[in-house]
Amino acid sequence: MTVSSPLISVVAPIFNEGAGVARFVRRLTEVLTGAGLAYELVLVDDGSTDNSWQHVVEQATMDKRVRGLQLSRNFGKEAAVLAGLEHAAGEAVVVIDSDLQHPPDVIPEMVRRWREGAQVVEAVKRNRTGQGLIGRLGGRLFNRAFTGLTQVDLVDATDFRLLGRPALEALLRLPEHSSFFRGTSSWIGFRRSTIEIDIDEREGGRTRWTFRSLFRLAVNGLTSFTSAPLHLVTMVGLAFAGFAVLLGAQTLIRWIGGDSVAGFPTVILLLLVMGTFLLLGLGVIGEYLARIHEEVRGRPRYLVQETADGFAETTVPEQ
Ligand code: UDP
Ligand code: MG
Repeated sequence: MTVSSPLISVVAPIFNEGAGVARFVRRLTEVLTGAGLAYELVLVDDGSTDNSWQHVVEQATMDKRVRGLQLSRNFGKEAAVLAGLEHAAGEAVVVIDSDLQHPPDVIPEMVRRWREGAQVVEAVKRNRTGQGLIGRLGGRLFNRAFTGLTQVDLVDATDFRLLGRPALEALLRLPEHSSFFRGTSSWIGFRRSTIEIDIDEREGGRTRWTFRSLFRLAVNGLTSFTSAPLHLVTMVGLAFAGFAVLLGAQTLIRWIGGDSVAGFPTVILLLLVMGTFLLLGLGVIGEYLARIHEEVRGRPRYLVQETADGFAETTVPEQ
């Protein structure tokens, strides 16, 4: 291939993928060299507790286009992706899962769209295999709610995307600490293009997501993009206030009229509803407070422990 073809960086977060790393690198090398692309592969080990890092080092030593980055502990996929983006040298960057659930053969098409002028090329899901019914429903529901509340379209979105340099620079300038790649890379705008893909089954290992981590991701995503839940609390509070006035008036009138007992169920119901809502409302406010607290602390989003750049003369991005 011509020396002048622009460098494409492929960024992949890795958490306990073990031998899957070698399989992943093999598949990507096949696809990328097959398409005649000049590329680098930035593998970010997100504090794996298995031998993933050894595999990364091995791949980096064998092929100078492979570079490794080991975070000092598990910072989560979002942080790992960010680390990769900040260390990528390419004119365009592709973010892809390392478990081969995102079909690598789409990358050449992404690059083609980018060359035709798109700044952000997103792969969107045609299906949702490899997830249980609950996961599928939950994902759908979250994406729809998110899209509705924030005007950032997430329906069927994935993290599998290509960003051109200008879009990437814009993304990296965002100051948020708990970033949400799927959301922020949509929020920045720029000329976009989408490609439909089928999500493959995991080739090995199993999903790292637990209900808890997915819930956190959802809450983080929502709180970083919209204050709608806070307004909702206010609205419901207002509705209750209206109720309170009506009921209060009724109670008063009855009391004046002399028949004031009965109404026990009403009291219990009101107590339950009000109590629940108060706690929920406090919870919502707490989530936002926690985010503010996190942002104010201003800690780095990830820490790098070690890098593997293969041969010493490999391209190191100018910072
Ligand atoms: N991953 C990561 N850090 C984590 C969890 C996951 O870097 O804490 C990586 C993982 O290796 C994979 C990608 O993020 O490449 C997606 O993770 P997973 O396959 O578990 O999620 P799913 O495909 O079910 O959304
Ligand atoms: Mg996966």
